[in-house]
Amino acid sequence: MKVQFDRVTKRFGSNAVLDEVSLEIEPGECVVLLGPSGCGKTTMLRLVAGLETPDSGRILIGDRIVNDVPPADRNVAMVFQNYALYPHLSVYENIAFPLIARRTAVDEIRRRVNDVASRLELASCLTRRPAQLSGGQQQRVALARAIVRNPVVYLMDEPLSNLDAQLRTQTRGELKRLQQVLGTTTIHVTHDQAEAMTLGHRVAILRAGRIEQFGAPLELYRRPINRFVAGFLGSPAINILPASLTSGEIVAAGARLRVPAGLRDALGRIQKFELGVRPEDVQLRVSPDPGAVEARVEILEAIGNETIVTMTSAGDRIVARAAADLPIEAGHPVWFRMDDAKAVFFDPASGTRIAP
Ligand code: ATP
Repeated sequence: MKVQFDRVTKRFGSNAVLDEVSLEIEPGECVVLLGPSGCGKTTMLRLVAGLETPDSGRILIGDRIVNDVPPADRNVAMVFQNYALYPHLSVYENIAFPLIARRTAVDEIRRRVNDVASRLELASCLTRRPAQLSGGQQQRVALARAIVRNPVVYLMDEPLSNLDAQLRTQTRGELKRLQQVLGTTTIHVTHDQAEAMTLGHRVAILRAGRIEQFGAPLELYRRPINRFVAGFLGSPAINILPASLTSGEIVAAGARLRVPAGLRDALGRIQKFELGVRPEDVQLRVSPDPGAVEARVEILEAIGNETIVTMTSAGDRIVARAAADLPIEAGHPVWFRMDDAKAVFFDPASGTRIAP
C-alpha cells in the first residue's frame, strides 16, 4: 500500500523536529530513511504508526488520511532495535501474540505461526524463551511477530543495529530476501549507509528535519545534490578537494583534469570550487606514469581484499582504494590519477553540487 507524507510538520515544544516533510512511498517499495542522530527518522516512523500526531500536514496510508486514526486501526507493524520481546513467553507465544490479541481462531494462529517460523528458520526454537536465543534469533522472532500479522506496512527502526558485524550482514541479506518474497511496503530507518544502499529501493537522506534528497541508492551515490549527501554515502568517504580552473583545466591536489562540458557555464562567477572524487575513482601506480601525479603515502589500511591508502599531494589529503597486492609502503611516493568522468563539483559556500 502507498504511504504518503504531505507537508508534515512535527514539533516537540518549540522545536520543529520535522519541517514540512513530503515523501511518497509506492506500494511494495522499501524506502530507507538515512541520516545522523536526531534528524527525525524515528519520528517519521512513529507518525505512520500513529504513536505521534503531526502538528500540520497529512499522513496517508493508501488513500486514507490517518492523522486521527488510532494505531490499532492502521494495520502497520513496527520492528524495534531492542526487539521488545516478552521474556516470560515462549517464542511461539511471542510470535502468536498479535493474533491472540485480535482473537484469531486457534487453528489459524497455529498455521500462521508455523508458516512464518519455518520461513525465518525458527521452527526448532518455538518452545524456548527469548533469553535462550542468540541476538540474531531474537531479532528474527521480532520480525516473525511483525510478519505474522500480515500488515499493510512494515516500519523498521534500526532492526539490525544490536547485532554484531557478521550477523548484521547475514540478517540484512535475510531482510532483503523477505522483502522480495513479501512485497510489502516497508519504511526502514538506519544510520548505516551500507544498510541503506543495499536494502532501499529508494533512500531519503534527512538532515535536521528536512529531506535533503530522495532517490535510488546509486543515483544518490553518483549524483548527490550537495556535499552533505555526498559525504553521507560511501565508506571511506568521498574526497572533497579545493579546486580551480587554470589555463583551461581543473586543478586539484596538484592534478589536472579535463573540464567537463558545461561546467564553465554552471560555475558562473565562482572562481574556486570543490571537487569530489570517490576513493574507488582514484587510480594508483607504483611508478611514474604519464598523466599521473606524484603523492606521498601517509597511511595504509589493509582490509584483506583491498587496501585503503591515504596520501598527500600539494598539501591535500586524498584517500584511494587500491588492490591488496599493490606494492606500496607508507612514507614512499605513489602516483595517482583521478577519473574526471566520475568527479562531482560543489559550491564551497553553500555545499550545493554544481551540475554541468
Ligand atoms: P536516532 O538516530 O538518534 O534515533 P532520529 O533521527 O531517529 O535519531 P528522532 O528520534 O526522530 O531522531 O528525534 C528527532 C529529535 O526530536 C531529537 O532531537 C529528539 O531529541 C527529539 N524528540 C524525539 N521525541 C521527543 C519527545 N517525545 N519529546 C521531545 N523531544 C523529542
